[in-house]
Amino acid sequence: MNQITRFIRLQQIDSRVDYVILRLEQIRLLLEDDHALRQLFAQQKEFEQRLILKRKDQEMYELAVQEQQIKIQQIEANLYGGKIQNPKELQEIQTEIVSLKKQLSSLENKLLEVMMIVDDGQVEYQVLCEKVDATQDEFKQKNSIILTEQERLIKELENLRAEKKAAENSIPLPDLMLYNRLRLSRGGIAVSTISEGACNSCGATLTPAQEQKVKSSEQKVYCPSCGRILFAS
Ligand SMILES: [Zn+2]
Repeated sequence: MNQITRFIRLQQIDSRVDYVILRLEQIRLLLEDDHALRQLFAQQKEFEQRLILKRKDQEMYELAVQEQQIKIQQIEANLYGGKIQNPKELQEIQTEIVSLKKQLSSLENKLLEVMMIVDDGQVEYQVLCEKVDATQDEFKQKNSIILTEQERLIKELENLRAEKKAAENSIPLPDLMLYNRLRLSRGGIAVSTISEGACNSCGATLTPAQEQKVKSSEQKVYCPSCGRILFAS
């Protein structure tokens, strides 16, 4: 393996390491991004609380209606029981019954109103629950694909680091330092291919003599513009 080939190999490993690290960071962010699901859960909880309160209202009106009915029945029993004979008293009781029945009717209307709200709320709540389930399934499925990818990339990164060490060991230290300096200052790319007489990284045109040197030489040739190590693919 000549010197250039060793640089190329190291560059390939480094570029892949850069990609894997970037992708792992993206995955980390994706796994944290369950904002939509969290929002739906909050909505579901709020809805549940509202429904519980409305059901309590319903129970309260049901009880009030029942009490009112019993009250009317008792008074009517007194009225028709024959014990009360005084016409004035009978008149008073009849007036009271009319008033109690009016209250009963008003209570029944309120009960009906709250029952309708509860019924509608239950239908709406069911729809919301289905949406939560679907979103949760989708999130789990998406995560399972991402988690598999994450696991694969972590293993790959381990292998790449071992390969990088071996590749670095095959390069003399001064050359390795030069390579690392170039990578740091040139956006991660220290080694560049050429095509049609130009550097593929910065686009600088080479003289025919420079191009020939890149193609034939086993020695390092630097791009006259960006300074990267050149090789002909
Ligand atoms: Zn260049």
